[in-house]
Amino acid sequence: MKFPFPYEYRENQREAVKFIYKSIEDERFVCLDAPTGFGKTPVILASLLKRGRRIIWAVRTGNETDRPIEELKIINEKLGKNYFGLSFRGKRDMCLLARKKFRGKGEHEEIAYLCKSERKNCPYYRNLQDFYYFPDNPLIYSEIMEIGEKYEICPYFYQRFLAHAADVISFNYNYILNENLMWSFRNIIDFRESYLVVDEAHNLQFAYSSIYGDKITLGTIKNALRESEKRREIYKIVLKIAEDVEKLKNNIAKERKREDVFSPSEIFSTDVQELEYLLKYGEEIRKKLLKEGKRPRSSSYRLANFLIDCLEKEGTRGVEFIGRRLPKNFEIEIYDMRAKEVLSHIWKKFRGVVFCSGTLRPIDAFADVVGIDDFAYRNFPPPYGEENIRTYLIRGLSTRGDKLPREMADRYIYAIKEIARLGKNTAVFCASHRILNSLLRRSLASELRNMGKEVFVEKKGMSGHRARKILEEFRKSEGGILLATASGRFSEGADYPGKSLEVVFMAGIPFERVTLKTSLYIQYYKEIYGEERGEFYSYVVPALRRASQALGRVLRSEEDTGIFFLGDERYINYRALLPEYIVARMKIISLGKIRRVVNYLRNSETP
Ligand code: SF4
Repeated sequence: MKFPFPYEYRENQREAVKFIYKSIEDERFVCLDAPTGFGKTPVILASLLKRGRRIIWAVRTGNETDRPIEELKIINEKLGKNYFGLSFRGKRDMCLLARKKFRGKGEHEEIAYLCKSERKNCPYYRNLQDFYYFPDNPLIYSEIMEIGEKYEICPYFYQRFLAHAADVISFNYNYILNENLMWSFRNIIDFRESYLVVDEAHNLQFAYSSIYGDKITLGTIKNALRESEKRREIYKIVLKIAEDVEKLKNNIAKERKREDVFSPSEIFSTDVQELEYLLKYGEEIRKKLLKEGKRPRSSSYRLANFLIDCLEKEGTRGVEFIGRRLPKNFEIEIYDMRAKEVLSHIWKKFRGVVFCSGTLRPIDAFADVVGIDDFAYRNFPPPYGEENIRTYLIRGLSTRGDKLPREMADRYIYAIKEIARLGKNTAVFCASHRILNSLLRRSLASELRNMGKEVFVEKKGMSGHRARKILEEFRKSEGGILLATASGRFSEGADYPGKSLEVVFMAGIPFERVTLKTSLYIQYYKEIYGEERGEFYSYVVPALRRASQALGRVLRSEEDTGIFFLGDERYINYRALLPEYIVARMKIISLGKIRRVVNYLRNSETP
């Protein structure tokens, strides 16, 4: 059987194509576990395109939507096919009217509101009605935008029009996890006749929480008070909410806690009619602002919406409400921990689903958490040989406990300085910001600089722009040291081709810090899965997946080589949860032996 695979098959790729092709119809749910560099995207495309049904490709962030479409272009070019596909983005990224009116600013909700109110008079929407151009080739996001700008048509609705004829549509998780967004697709895509691919599927466990969780602070309430100053009856409602929140804040302070759970109906004395009245008032403000050419934002609207959501979700298993004292503020959070209960219904809407990642193992835990029972699973080894990899687990190091004692921090610094002598680009991924800061406070960065090293440091909350710049400079460096966290933007999703990263040192195991949220999460999982499995799924597996993701940054292709140092002796107990190719020939050494190991590696040819 000939599949539309545009490259010469490398080891295991043909087998993977056949496996997906067969299993998607036999089993419906397919789990593909293969490391970076395996070529998952062309493998999955080749098998599903051969099946001749539409493919919906869900990725973690909007920026990743272009990847499968770029591969589709290569298939067309190399094999003379004419598949069509596009990367689909939301109005926030595409609305030309909002760009003009709000100068590129505005939240998704504001742009959606603008479109709902002004679409009839929108020149870009009008121009689209007489526009008939169907491209010959698949389109990535920037190309759709270019067409929109060139012909002054609405790119958002243009892509919706094109989507009717697409063989492959890629978009971010929101479109499958968010009921409203998914619903808006119903008249374009017949889900029952489509295959869904969930890329980097290990993220699903937390994806739902990030979409359905929400927070407001005192700032929202203060702004709502200001907005309603001239409307006495509205002002009274907001004031009542402000007093209730103050009570909650005082209760938590009285208990000498920083944060606590609460029940919305016990704290808030406003009823649903009052909240709807406030919502309506917020709507009037949004309308007025839009008329004045301003962004349609209203804190009254936001506050009412949030509280209605609280009341609606109260009593739902897996949803908690948290009040939290901050240094100069107070916040209320809706914490939605659900995964299995909601996700299992979503998969059933599709003809078949492929879940892929390099870190799906342990597969039973993954399947249980995302709510699939019968599925076909294959774990494919990496294309790089064992001779390209060296792994050392260092005894005598551990980030166990609440604080990193000075003596332990000094041990870490000693190990990192020794490893820096290798002269290769090295990433030190710390278990948390807390660990990273402990090492920085003990002068890790300056000691490395004193050795003549270029040092790059991840800062908490740094902008995407700044992070990209640091990444670029680190990649260009020779023997540079990146000091970052194992759950930040440098450890997942970042690319380090060739020699731009050859060594990874894991400073600790990236377990979640035990906060109120972590405890609630573990507790909830224990209720669903039982004591042991609950803790394993909610606490252990996510930490080891984070570590695996961070370690996986090093090897991207057959030619790459990698040296891994596991800087926490507890990894011995969790080695089965790390990628096989990393632990297969792992050596356990004591901290005292590290100098000898580094000297040996400096003198050996491979890696
Ligand atoms: S039709 Fe398009 S350009 Fe016009 S407001 Fe809506 S999204 Fe924006």
